[in-house]
Amino acid sequence: MSTKNNAWEYADSIENASHINLRKQYDLYIDGKWVKPSSNKYFSSSNPHDEKHIADVSEANEEDVDLAVQAAEKAYELWSKISAAERGKYIFRIARLMQEQARELAVIESLDSGKPIREARDIDIPLACNHFFYYAGWADKLEYAFPNQHKKSLGVAGQIIPWNFPLLMAAWKIAPALATGNTVVLKPAETTSLTALKLAEIIEASGIPPGVVNIVTGFGDTGAAIVAHPKVSKIAFTGSTAVGKLIQKTIAGSNKRATLELGGKSANIIFGDAPIDQAVEGIINGIFFNQGHVCCAGSRLFVEESVAEKVIRKLKHRMQSLQVGNPLDKNTDVGAINSKEQLKIINRYIDIGIKEGSEFFQTDCAIPTEGYYCRPTLFINVAQSSILAQEEIFGPVLTIQTFRTVDEVIQKANNSPYGLAAGVWTDKGSKIFNLTSKLKAGVVWANTYNKFDPSSPFGGYKESGFGREGGLHGLGAYLK
Ligand code: NAP
Ligand code: MG
Repeated sequence: MSTKNNAWEYADSIENASHINLRKQYDLYIDGKWVKPSSNKYFSSSNPHDEKHIADVSEANEEDVDLAVQAAEKAYELWSKISAAERGKYIFRIARLMQEQARELAVIESLDSGKPIREARDIDIPLACNHFFYYAGWADKLEYAFPNQHKKSLGVAGQIIPWNFPLLMAAWKIAPALATGNTVVLKPAETTSLTALKLAEIIEASGIPPGVVNIVTGFGDTGAAIVAHPKVSKIAFTGSTAVGKLIQKTIAGSNKRATLELGGKSANIIFGDAPIDQAVEGIINGIFFNQGHVCCAGSRLFVEESVAEKVIRKLKHRMQSLQVGNPLDKNTDVGAINSKEQLKIINRYIDIGIKEGSEFFQTDCAIPTEGYYCRPTLFINVAQSSILAQEEIFGPVLTIQTFRTVDEVIQKANNSPYGLAAGVWTDKGSKIFNLTSKLKAGVVWANTYNKFDPSSPFGGYKESGFGREGGLHGLGAYLK
């Protein structure tokens, strides 16, 4: 079925690398078959560590999207009628197959996206499997989840995902849609299509009826064609606020439902009474996890003035120990920036910060001379009005501000067009409760950061989007 290409050679630094099985060229997965794109156009997916080509991926146009939607519409007739327990069995099967191939999926995710193998192996892939397990369990319990509400599925769900958590975002989207009896047309991001295509192989192997899940790869136009298709009843989008706004314009006046998970500029707040060493670990995890390509990254740090000097000193010291380099090296803490374009965006923000004149700090670790890399970066004493404190950078760049009172930090933390997440570090439960009720953020973590679980809902306020994914809320988004 599949032809091995040279991708596994990159993976020689990890065990069992030869188990990686990638095709040289991927067609579109439509109606349970691998179909050539009607334009016959393919594009290259490459490794951000060394810019080497990994595999060719299809560019789907409107015609291909239409085929996929038709297949999903036809499959919906069957899928929405089979017993809920049967639906659950297929979803469990997908989860188990993913688990069996977890090692391979982790390597491919790391190769294609630039994220450290340790994160792909220990976080992304297990969480993606868990999402399928979690929603498989709900499939035959919807009556219990929504008692006396007679909920019904929506139809064909068009799902569009970004490049920062490729397989995990596919799982967040596909699992609840299937559990509730909907069918799916999913488009991964252009730089990270490979694990979604491996997932298509797993879905094929699960024996789920053809057309229930269709995977179409391509660029923004492919996504736009899904959004505009009249037979798509629900749009689930994760990506930038700019594209989220475009989507809202396209679907205005239609009957389409939508959930939009957009950008963020989340506050991580450290009080003087917090356990400082743990808080420093939380700051590091908050901003350098996945190179800062995290929608809920704790990218604005607020430190109580009395401990600011100590926290910043310890933070700089800890940052110097971060290993930046080949994502496939098990010792790597910070991997490659996902694309040349994203690296340009990050460097542009760093230049702005330097020109604005706030104190600038970068670690002096060695970084590879080729590929897309950025050293962990701090800007200290950043003004509230600075572009750096306002706009999402989506990279390993942290801005630091100080505060004296609780009211002041709440006001500053909420002074953002976004409202996705926040972190609070303190020894006092009362402070935690006070802040969780006043911070305008979809998720507030207390004395931890970037913790995810399939059972807890995730989503934003304001320009961070609307709707929730995960947990019961995530099921509700696929039912009427
Ligand atoms: P993006 O440019 O908005 O792209 C997201 C997805 O939409 C990609 O698959 C993209 O395809 C597609 N797309 C582009 N233009 C489109 C259009 N006009 N219509 C429909 N689809 C279109 O975002 P990104 O740069 O990939 O991701 C980074 C952003 O996503 C950040 O702002 C981040 O905060 C946000 N994000 C949010 C969450 C959350 O849960 N709230 C999670 C992850 C990321 P191409 O890849 O081909 O451009
Ligand atoms: Mg890639």
